[in-house]
This record gives sequence, C-alpha cells and structure tokens, in this order.
Amino acid sequence: MNVHDSEKVIGTLRQQGYSQVDTPDDAGLVLYNTCSIRDKAEQKVFNRLQNFKKAAGKDKIFGVLGCVAQQEGEKIFDRAPHVSLVCGSASYPKFGDMLVQLEAGNRHITGLSLDTEETFDTPFTSRDNPHRAYITIIEGCDKSCAYCVVPFTRGPERSRTSESVMAEARRLAADGYTEIQLLGQNVNSYRDPSPAGWDFATLLARIAEVSGIRRVRYTTSHPRDFVKAIVDAMDANPVLCDHVHLPVQSGSTRVLAAMDRLYTRDDYMRRIDWLKNAKRPYALTTDIIVGFPGETEQDFQATLDLLDEVQYDSLFSFKYSPRPNTAALDMPDRIAEEEKQRRLLIVQEKQRAIQIRRNAEMIGQIREVHVEGRHQSLGQWIGRTSDNRTLNFTHPSANGDTLIGTYLSVRVTRSGPNSLVGETATVV
Ligand code: SAM
Ligand code: SF4
Repeated sequence: MNVHDSEKVIGTLRQQGYSQVDTPDDAGLVLYNTCSIRDKAEQKVFNRLQNFKKAAGKDKIFGVLGCVAQQEGEKIFDRAPHVSLVCGSASYPKFGDMLVQLEAGNRHITGLSLDTEETFDTPFTSRDNPHRAYITIIEGCDKSCAYCVVPFTRGPERSRTSESVMAEARRLAADGYTEIQLLGQNVNSYRDPSPAGWDFATLLARIAEVSGIRRVRYTTSHPRDFVKAIVDAMDANPVLCDHVHLPVQSGSTRVLAAMDRLYTRDDYMRRIDWLKNAKRPYALTTDIIVGFPGETEQDFQATLDLLDEVQYDSLFSFKYSPRPNTAALDMPDRIAEEEKQRRLLIVQEKQRAIQIRRNAEMIGQIREVHVEGRHQSLGQWIGRTSDNRTLNFTHPSANGDTLIGTYLSVRVTRSGPNSLVGETATVV
C-alpha cells in the first residue's frame, strides 16, 4: 500500500511539473514516505533526515509523508527543523495544494487531520511496472486490533465508488496492464458508497470480467469479513488468482480475544475449510505475531499446531512490537525480547520445513507464469504463478527483455523453500 501511495504522490508531483531524479543528492524536494507498523521506523526516518541536515536551507526542501508523519505530527518539526512538510496519508487528497504552498515559500505545512471521507483517488498515478498495477479500493481501517497502529495513522474506512474502481481497471487494461492487485487494509469490508452498493465479492467478480485483465489479486483480508461469497466468486472465474492471504496472527482463541481480532480459531478454520474444499486449489498464506502480551507457552503451541493443520504456502512472522496509542500497550505480562526471538525462530523453522515439502510437490507440474524480470547472472527469467510462487525458468531463445510481461507455460524441475525453478514447456 505504501508503494502504491508513493506512485500516486509521484503522479501528483509530475502532474504539477516536477520530474523525478535518481538520488536525493540531485533533488530539490526530498519526500520520505514512511511506515510505523513496527517500532523504530521513526528512528530510521530521523537518521535519514539527519544525513541531509546540511543540505537543507540551501536549495533542498524536505517532507515526511505516511504513518510516521501522522503518528509524530508537529513533533517532527522540533526534532528535524529542516523539514517543511508533514503529511499523513488521509491528507494526500490535498497534497497538490500543499505543493503550491511549498512553492509559495511556506516552510511549515501540515496535513494531519484524520477526519476525512475522501480517498486519494488520482488519475495521475505514476506506476513503475508496465504490466501489473495496484488499485486502492478502500482506505483506512475501522477495526481495533489491540496491537495495531493503522487505525490511528490511516484514519477511518473509506471505500471508493465501484464506478471509479471499474473505470481505473478499464483504463489500465486499455494501457496494456494484464494484472491488477486490489488494495486495502481490509478489502473484505469494501462497501460501494454509490447506489449500486456492491460488496467485495461482487467487485471481484466484475473486475475479473474486464477485457484484457488476465490476473486479479487482492490484499489484505480480515478473516472476520472473509465470507463464503468471496470463495464462490473466485471459484467462478480463474482470472481471480489461486491465492488467499488470510492473516491469522495467533492460533490461540484466548490470544485472538486479547488482540480483539473478532474471530476464534474455529471461525478461522471454517474459512480455511471453505478454501480447502473449493473447486480448485488455493495457496494460503498468513501473518503471525509471536510474543503478544500474555502469550503463554500453551498459546504459542496452539499457533504451531495451527501451522501444522493449515500447511500454509508461505507466511510473514513478526515479534510483537508495542505501538503508541494501541490497547495492547498497557497490557500486563509483556514477553521478554529474547523469548519473542526464540518463538519467532521456531515459527520460521517449522514453516520452512512445510514450504520445502509443499514446493517439492510441484516438481513435474506445468504452471502458467507471468514473466516479471530476468536474473542475468543466472541466465533465468523470473516468473510468478497464479498461486503467487516465484518460478524462475530458462527459455531457449532468451533475448533482451522480450519475455517480460508475457505469460508462458513452465515445467517445474526443482524446488527450494521460497521458490521453484523450471524450463519453458512445449505445450502440445
Ligand atoms: N490489515 C491487515 C490485517 O488485518 O491482517 C494487516 C495490516 S498490517 C500492515 C500487516 C501485519 O503486520 C499484520 O497482519 C500483523 O501481523 C503485523 N503487525 C501489525 N502491527 C504489529 C505490531 N504492533 N507488532 C507486530 N506485528 C504487527
Ligand atoms: Fe490493523 Fe487490525 Fe485494521 Fe488490520 S484489521 S489494519 S491489523 S487494526
């Protein structure tokens, strides 16, 4: 989502006559788009800003955008007086006006209000991939997971109208994009604010019908709002990719309640069963937090058992990180850093073994890949399967960049924990 925010900010800058340079040294305006989902992010931002302190005031202007901007607010001007603009993502719709103020010489500009119904819906997005494009369908978040800073940094949930989303999808298809990734903190709670009133499953089905679009992905799903109609929509149209990212966070119902995730382990497993009993196989991935306050050895074991039960294709795992304003900040029974680290390594080791085994099962299969790039040194092309695996492959007439953006059938010949290797298959 941050990458796509940057694409929109760059698009707005270009629209107002700016051009992009390769390094901050060459720039007259330097903007840092920031994340604060885990701690120390703000520290990194201040360290970077510090490196440029000397250059400030000459002909360089600095701005901080995104979640650290929203979280630290005016304090940024105190800690880094050479910063002229502090703007959270909920204020991006006003970003163009802020640029005008910067040009007029204002050196203390803020965009920190979360009180908005607007989405950052710009026709000037500057996409950096010519084949795969992000589309934001919903911004902000109305959940209140006890560990999470997002509701405080990205504001309340705002869905885009279905007309606007569909128009963007059609425009992208006309421009030659074949893959679309729908974005939101919780795409499942998408509610079309226009009279059409589409829910997420309907939007998915309609996007998949846009002529020229061969793949549609989406992220992220909150399990509570992941309804059976979404699986039905996916089953009905293979343009909707064979992958669901369904963050569970913990395998313990007790910890899930403390996290205020609004589902139990059984509720979650019911959704996994829908996917496992669906018409085609779906790759399943998740997010895990270890060391949430009060997580006992037994709770942690429940998470490990869940990994055994679900057999995820991949996961992101994190040590719980206390965040400002969140409910978990004051919860008792903090877990020591070394213990969090121990649990993290156990999760990662277990998952690695699962991935080695699951990926090995793919050997011999023929998969369609969307070609994303080339490893020159390995003599391989980089492909991605519909189920979101990286499948690097050799091709007899590899020349220049000619394969990038195309779709090819590849036979899997080898596997590792994180990717597959293959060769283009002759399809008869
Ligand atoms: N909205 C999505 C959801 O509900 O699953 C994900 C949002 S967040 C950007 C991505 C992941 O970061 C979460 O699923 C969670 O695992 C992790 N995360 C968020 N806050 C965290 C924290 N305070 N400490 C550790 N991990 C965190
Ligand atoms: Fe954070 Fe929970 Fe919202 Fe996801 S659903 S962004 S984890 S508060």
